[in-house]
Amino acid sequence: MISPWSFQLASYMLRKLRRMYLTIDGWESNLRFSAAHFIPSHTKCSRLHGHDYAVSVTVFGSQEKEFLIDFLDLKKYVEDIITPLDHRVLVPGKGDSIRREFTEDQCRITYGGKSMMFWREDVYLLDAESSSSEDMASFLADQLHAKLRNYRKITKLEVCIEEGPGMGACAEKSVQHG
Ligand SMILES: [Zn+2]
Repeated sequence: MISPWSFQLASYMLRKLRRMYLTIDGWESNLRFSAAHFIPSHTKCSRLHGHDYAVSVTVFGSQEKEFLIDFLDLKKYVEDIITPLDHRVLVPGKGDSIRREFTEDQCRITYGGKSMMFWREDVYLLDAESSSSEDMASFLADQLHAKLRNYRKITKLEVCIEEGPGMGACAEKSVQHG
């Protein structure tokens, strides 16, 4: 049986810790980058091509005092994640859909009977099996999760990446506090 005191404490805590979410729109807030990529298994998208990407994020949790998280901190975390991808060729670093050969300063990618050579510094090796929007969203969610593990008020995050306005994929991740 719940004692009156426990009930009052629970009511007080629910008032103090208000559940909410905070969101940043990538197009409006300039969380954007441009990159080239290819999807080996797809007829049209297997050709090397590029997109102007935007990354939007939402974090869920409980407000305590003024903030769930400072907007500027969250934006900075996303900028730190996407800046290394900007103006690079996104190459999946996992899986066997492509063959990757590296020299000190060059990278050769082979799939579907064709071969492309890039300067190593122009390539970003993704920790993912492809550079589809779905895999990119999961990759970015994992990256952001690593930065938010110490935010005890945040319980879940969502990352959406669009290859153009209105066309993209989102990934959700529960925050495991470290
Ligand atoms: Zn594409």
